[in-house]
Amino acid sequence: MPQPSASRLTRAFIHLDRLTHNLRLLQQQVGERALWPVIKGNAYGHGAQIVARHLVRLGYDTFGVADVHEAIELNEAGIDATFVTLSATLPEHSEALVACGCEPVVCTLEMVEALARAALKAGRRVSVHLKVDTGMGRVGIRPNEVPAFLERCRALPALRVRGLMSHFPSADEADKTFSKQQIEQFRRVIEATKGYGIEVCHMANSAAVFDLPDSDFDAVRPGIALYGLRPSSEIANPRVQELKPVLEWKTRITFLKEVPAGVGLSYGHVFHTQRPSLIATVPVGYADGLNRSLSNQLDLLVRGVRCPQVGRITMDMSLIDVTALRGQAELGDEAVIIGRQRNEEVTADDLAESLGTINYEVVTAITHRVPRVVVGE
Ligand SMILES: *Cc1c(COP(=O)(O)O)cnc(C)c1O
Repeated sequence: MPQPSASRLTRAFIHLDRLTHNLRLLQQQVGERALWPVIKGNAYGHGAQIVARHLVRLGYDTFGVADVHEAIELNEAGIDATFVTLSATLPEHSEALVACGCEPVVCTLEMVEALARAALKAGRRVSVHLKVDTGMGRVGIRPNEVPAFLERCRALPALRVRGLMSHFPSADEADKTFSKQQIEQFRRVIEATKGYGIEVCHMANSAAVFDLPDSDFDAVRPGIALYGLRPSSEIANPRVQELKPVLEWKTRITFLKEVPAGVGLSYGHVFHTQRPSLIATVPVGYADGLNRSLSNQLDLLVRGVRCPQVGRITMDMSLIDVTALRGQAELGDEAVIIGRQRNEEVTADDLAESLGTINYEVVTAITHRVPRVVVGE
């Protein structure tokens, strides 16, 4: 049966030229060091396959993902790369991790032993990265436990501890005191583990790539900056200004109506028109990842004009007040949720600020219903 063809009205546009630009900027910051792009969470909502395929084309071959499931999806999509799985997991995933050639981040003996067994069974070797908790306080073994842990790993012939890694909880804050202590501590761990054949030590996220050059070590793991978004507003390095947002999120007007003053709109009537208004409907809602808490808090761009979103954001539709465009707005007009139109721009940071969250969450929340469309290839 022929499939009906229809492109969705609400789409995310992924500008690969900007991804390339951001990557080059980050690579310049770290020189010859290895750069392992972090593409977990569907590449921060940008589409992991699209992003990975482009980065492979640019010559990158090692990526940070959350877990084996993300790695399997990318493998199945034909992405030929090494996946470092960043989240702690359980021994039950060992065989899958070995089968897809992942390099898991580990922090328990249970996990390294299970991985070594799985590798032996598969007739392969597995490389892992040992997570050292220098102050993030999420996963990882304590610095003083590292030599003993490595000693135990030595007894597992099918397992190689290839990397030693750590992570920053506050590299994006102006005060770098704690981050610098972590770097010093990580340095001491590295000193204490000479002779264990560790090949690559890595610590830096995006914020550290910009603001903590001493944290470069052998490889860096930037995520958010690849996508052209700032890790926070407190990054000191002026080059952070050169980042270009990779994602634009756009929809189209599907309904227009004149409404008199004093009319309640959408669920709960939390908005009433204050004057005779021209109201547009757009097919985007919280099922697309437009957070319902943004209701009455955001502007969309239509014809280069900021138009306030009004009334509750619903699952599939939202309303915008386009009174300023009376006589101009038409059915089918583009409405920008995140991105640029003429001289106006709405950023992921704007949405994050209204929501009391970070840009990371805003873009990652865009759901699978929204197709990611490649532009600027
Ligand atoms: C997500 C993540 C990163 C990337 O962080 P950004 O702030 O997005 O650059 C790096 N390392 C680990 C362990 C992570 O979980």
